[in-house]
Amino acid sequence: MIKELHEKLIKGETTSVKLTEEYFEKIKNRDKEIQAYLTLTKDLAIKQANFIDEKIKKGDEIEILSGIPVAIKDNICIEGIRTTAASKILDNYIAPYDATVIKKLKEKGAVILGKTNMDEFAMGSSTENSAYQITKNPNDIERVPGGSSGGSAAAVAEDEAVWALGSDTGGSIRQPASFCGIVGLKPTYGRVSRHGLLAMASSLDQIGPLTKTVEDAAIVLSEIIGEDKKDATSAPSFDKRYENYLTGDISKIKIGIPKEYLEKGLDEDIKNKFQEAIQQFRKLGAEIKEISLPHSKYSLSTYYLIMPSEVSSNLARFDGIKYGLRVDDKESSGFKENGIPRTLFETYLDSREYGFGSEVKRRIMLGTYALSAGYYDAYYLKAQKVRALIKRDFEEAFREVDFIFSPTTPEVAFKIGEKTSDLLKMYLSDIFTIAANLSGVPGISFPIGKIKKDGKDLPIGGQLMGKWFDEEGILNAAHTFEINYSQPI
Ligand code: GLN
Repeated sequence: MIKELHEKLIKGETTSVKLTEEYFEKIKNRDKEIQAYLTLTKDLAIKQANFIDEKIKKGDEIEILSGIPVAIKDNICIEGIRTTAASKILDNYIAPYDATVIKKLKEKGAVILGKTNMDEFAMGSSTENSAYQITKNPNDIERVPGGSSGGSAAAVAEDEAVWALGSDTGGSIRQPASFCGIVGLKPTYGRVSRHGLLAMASSLDQIGPLTKTVEDAAIVLSEIIGEDKKDATSAPSFDKRYENYLTGDISKIKIGIPKEYLEKGLDEDIKNKFQEAIQQFRKLGAEIKEISLPHSKYSLSTYYLIMPSEVSSNLARFDGIKYGLRVDDKESSGFKENGIPRTLFETYLDSREYGFGSEVKRRIMLGTYALSAGYYDAYYLKAQKVRALIKRDFEEAFREVDFIFSPTTPEVAFKIGEKTSDLLKMYLSDIFTIAANLSGVPGISFPIGKIKKDGKDLPIGGQLMGKWFDEEGILNAAHTFEINYSQPI
């Protein structure tokens, strides 16, 4: 996709302005129903598109992402653009700077169409936790697109953007990619700078691409990686073109299937498609081996202690004073209804009470509790120890195999409203993706087939996890599968 569009641009078969306008037309026609976007950035997009067209006209070389329309999840800062993280507390927040990934994209000439819907502060698996709207799954509009990067995934699947950026803390790129039938890559922790990403849980968050093909994911990754002085956890990297590693040959690799992932709670149809995909990998020459990740049964509970602890700390900054909404702004008086001046503490309380949605509040309370004196050792510290064991499982598995393959999710996209009253069921949709965040390894979700439900074809995703910083390995394996077996969307 990206390569073809790039060729068209340099051959003069289309212009970036034309392409950009086509995409805004698609958004106009389709997004009323899909509701993938929260904010459109047309001025910015057309300005950038014009700049690239001028360059092409002059005969200057352009970069691979130049002139190509992209959508950005609304928790990534773009200077001068409203950035809400789908929360009321940031309703009127205009980002004063560019996230490092945005700076890179602007330098490379990418055309930013707008900001996409998400679960509030990236907490959720369906975009139903957005304070603004519920994005629909383009494969069946009665179903959720997944989350939290549901807007980005739906925008790409509905072709309201060529590709998109998302963030993944427990599965938020891979799970919606799987639900919408596209490709989603969570890079190794540290591979991509988090500077300018509104933090959810800093030791787990990673920015990554949602794309139509694995090759596109490889192209985008090459453009956004790199060490960043503004993110102390970003890892040094050399200029690397991941697309050059897509050989289409996986005949010498070993793929591990974690037996714990297939034990219970897995939808029968997904299990069957997954078994088929294993056979397909075999046919491509890969060696398949059963492996064990013995601590994976603790992943979800470990995540739901560490993540809320970091959430409670990261979201403390939203106090009604520093950013966005302040509850007494509404009357701009600073007085309560009875005429008594509001105290600073009351402003904090009222702003947070009104500004945050219930899932965010729930997690702040859980995290504050887990970190409180007297409970810290029993909950947070214990969870960190189990996290080390989960990481060790991966180290041991990667002594035996090159990659680990599993379904991305235990079920296909569920109906809107189906899980909002049963949080545990909602949380379970990340059961296979969370361990990659806890251990830091890279993971990619790519389509492995479809099943029919209610007369609609619903996509199923497969997940490949690789060794730390071996994005090229999982990209090549997923690409090899894709060119042999997947039908393009
Ligand atoms: N769905 C998971 C959660 O609710 C993961 C979210 C994410 O990766 N941002 O926490």
